Parts: sequence; structure tokens; C-alpha cells
Amino acid sequence: KKPAGETKVAVIGGGPGGYVAAIRAAQLGGKVTLIEKNKLGGTCLNVGCIPTKAILHAAEALTEAKEMAEYGIHIEVKNVDWKQVQAKKNAITAQLVGGVTGLMKANKIQVVEGTASFASKDTLAVLKKDGTKENMTFDKIIIAAGSVPAVPPIPGVKENANCVDSTGALSFEEIPKSLLVIGGGVIGIELATAYSKFGTEVTVVEAAPKLLPMMDGELTAQLRKLMEAKGVKIMTDAKVQSVEAAAVGAKVNVEIGGKVQPFAAEKVLVAVGRRTDTEALGLDAVGIANDRGRITVNDKMETNVPNVYAIGDCLGKVMLAHVASAQGEVAAENALGENAVYNGATNPSCVYTDPEFAGVGLTEEKAKEMGIAYQVGKFPLMANGKSLIMNGGVGSIKFIIGTEYKEVLGVHILGPRATDLIGECALAIGMEATVEDIIAAIHAHPTVTEAVREAALAAEKRAIHIP
Ligand code: FAD
Repeated sequence: KKPAGETKVAVIGGGPGGYVAAIRAAQLGGKVTLIEKNKLGGTCLNVGCIPTKAILHAAEALTEAKEMAEYGIHIEVKNVDWKQVQAKKNAITAQLVGGVTGLMKANKIQVVEGTASFASKDTLAVLKKDGTKENMTFDKIIIAAGSVPAVPPIPGVKENANCVDSTGALSFEEIPKSLLVIGGGVIGIELATAYSKFGTEVTVVEAAPKLLPMMDGELTAQLRKLMEAKGVKIMTDAKVQSVEAAAVGAKVNVEIGGKVQPFAAEKVLVAVGRRTDTEALGLDAVGIANDRGRITVNDKMETNVPNVYAIGDCLGKVMLAHVASAQGEVAAENALGENAVYNGATNPSCVYTDPEFAGVGLTEEKAKEMGIAYQVGKFPLMANGKSLIMNGGVGSIKFIIGTEYKEVLGVHILGPRATDLIGECALAIGMEATVEDIIAAIHAHPTVTEAVREAALAAEKRAIHIP
């Protein structure tokens, strides 16, 4: 085993998995090279988490401006300068990418602009952006190649210029008058929320019986009703058969209940999921185990090939930035001789809707499926002062508690700041907290966090603010 200072580590991909892995490896003394074919920050910073939230923030401000009338504040919105929305979004993205570039320098990580593929188990062939090629040999290699939008085999999608993926939908030239979203997963639902706030007529078509398959069903149903009440048309158990050209936009043929119905839309967002971006790596040539491009790893993020690790979206499992980063730290630590293990139990899922939706741990459906004895605690945000101030008390919090040991199995929040509130719940699950631990912590007043405690109290049938 080499001393850390002599261990040459390669990281393929500069997304939230790769750049975090690179920093962690450098902190532990590794000599780190990060190879990125496109832009540092990966999907997340350039065409994912950050740009979507910037657009959603603008959309929310627009809604809030209207809703402030309830407080006697009458704001007249003259117009939405879409070019400026785009410019602000791009500026935020550029600032964050610049921040990552700075972090690479500060940690003495060599960044190579180019595409990497395996020449052998320890050597990468790098085709650099300047056209030159170089073979580089390393002691450890961490693959963080990420993912790209999947294109479904729906006739007409590829040919129609009005069909875009999430990247296209983040940089429309103008706000579309109508948008049909194929896929009711997180990306589809977030962009549906944003554009409907900008006045776009939005229709969501989902093949499964429910939206957001990984989220708690009861709260998802609540969210659906709220979205519908705001004018988003949602169809589940509905399959897009084909897309045809139209004089304006596209005609989308959707099968619902055995009948095919046409829907006209100016733009069509195809958001049916993402696929791993591992083709260029040449995994099979060096025997790195994968399932159709999805790299197989153990809980130390090790592949079957010694000294080669893989993390993040390129595993094709949980495609979330914070998961990629957490796995990145584990891979880097193991590459530098530590003994770290990835545990996904505390991983929160967040959806930036109105109100926000977040969950961690087991859903009620999952607890049932696993045959675990559980009790539920629910608290409506209508009974929480801060929520009432912020959004009229829309939403609720739901705890799933193990009956035998009273441990927190899962928490699901639909409400203002849900994506921030879920942090406490992730900590609770990580520490194997019981419902009594949540109850024992005094939660500040007036906050939405009080409702987290109240939902825990409700699981014990002792909530204070509901009858
Ligand atoms: P990526 O971010 O995809 O980075 C991989 C990098 O590797 C890319 O930069 C790519 O160019 C590079 N690369 C690939 N192959 C090679 C090669 N052979 N050589 C050199 N470089 C290579 N997640 C959240 O947690 N929260 C959100 O709110 C959220 N919102 C999202 C919204 C949208 C619209 C999208 C599309 C995604 C969103 N995600 C969100 C998912 C999140 O962006 C990804 O889970 C995350 O970026 C994965 O990180 P990664 O490092 O594994 O891969």
C-alpha cells in the first residue's frame, strides 16, 4: 500500500459525485486528477437541480406577488422578462461552477478537460478537448460519469423539434403557451409546477397509476389535488402512443382507458427518466461488471475490479445529487485506505412543488409491503400557526413509527419548507431515534418544525393542537 501522498487517484466526471469525491480524496492526501468532458458541476449545477430551482424561484415569486393581496399588499406585475429569468438562472449556475473550479484549485486537483475511457484496468485513455490524446495511469479510479435524459421509443418524439428533454425545457426561447409533460416523476412535476405558475397551460401524462412513485401515496394524492386545483391537468394510467407534427407545436396521442385521444401542445417535455452515460468508458473491455451500462458496486462503492470505484447516477439506482456526493465521499475514503460504507437509509427525496414535498425512510406502502408493524401520526398544517401565515396552512406531516420499538421508520412532509424540514427527520432515522426522542426535543414557536413534533405526538395519540 502506497502512502496517501503517492496515491494517484483519477475521478471521471465533475458532477456532484465526482467533484466531491475529488475533494475528499485530496483532503486525505491523494494526488487527484479529475477528467470532465463537458462542464464542472455536471448535470446538477448546469442542467439539473440548480437551474430548475432558479426557474421555480422566479415562478414562486410571481405567485407570491399575486397572493400578497390577501395581506393587503397589491403588487402589479407588469410583465415577465423571460430573457432576464434565463440570464439570472445562467448567472447562478455560472457562479456555482466557478465555485467548484475554485475548489479544485484550492485542493490542488488537476482538472483535465476531455473524455476518459479505460485503456486497461488502471490506465485511462483521455481524448482532450484540444484534440490531443493521452494515456494516464492511476492507482485508484473513481467513475462518476452520471446520466443523461432517456429518450422513450415513442414514434415521433425524436423527429419533432417541439419535443424537448429537461435541458431543453430549462432554456425555452419563450414561455410556452401550452406544455404537455410526458412523465409524472420529479423532473416532470417540478417543471410542470414552474411553467403553470408562469401561465402555461400544463398537462401531465403518466403511464403509472400515480405520480411520484417513490413518495408516500397519501400525500402524493393531496399534492395532485392541489396541482389540479391550480389548473394543471393530470392524467395517470395514460400512455403516450405517438407524437405527430402540427401547424403549431405538436399533437400528442394518449391512450386513456383503451381509447386514444389527441392533445395539442406548443411544447412537449419528455421526462421519462434518465439513463447512465457510461458507453464511452468501455466498461466491458476491462471487465467492469454492469447491467446495461449501470455499474455494479458494493456498499463500499467498489466495483468488481480492484481499485475501481463507481458512484452516483452512473449506478442507475437513486439518481440524486446528495446521494452521488455521499457515495463520492465513501469511494474517496476507501480509495485512500479507509473503511467507509454507504448507508442510504437517511437519504431524503425532495420535490420542489407548491407546497414542497419531502420524505425520508419508509413510506406507509413500503412498511406494509415489508410486513412491519407500524403506527401512523398525522398532523394537518392548517393547525400550525407558521404554515397558516406562510401558505394558508396547506399540507400535512406524516410519521411512520415502528410499533414494537417506537423507532422512526419514515417521515413525509407536504408543506412550506418541507425540503428543509426533512433534515431533522433524516438525522432521526440515522440515529435510530424513537418517537419519544422527537417529542423530547423542544421545537421553536412559531415554526413549521413544531408541526413535525406534533405529527410525532399524533403517532402516540397525544397531539396538542388537533382534537
Ligand atoms: P452528473 O451530475 O451527471 O455528472 C457526471 C459528469 O461526468 C458530467 O459532467 C459528464 O459530462 C461527465 N462525464 C461522463 N462521462 C465522462 C467521460 N467518459 N469522461 C469525462 N467526463 C465524463 N437531484 C437532486 O438531488 N435534487 C434536485 O433537485 C435535482 N433536480 C434535478 C433536476 C433536473 C432537471 C435533472 C435533470 C436532475 C436533477 N437532479 C436532482 C439529479 C442530479 O442532477 C443528479 O443526481 C446528479 O447530478 C448526479 O451526479 P453525478 O455526479 O452522479 O452525475
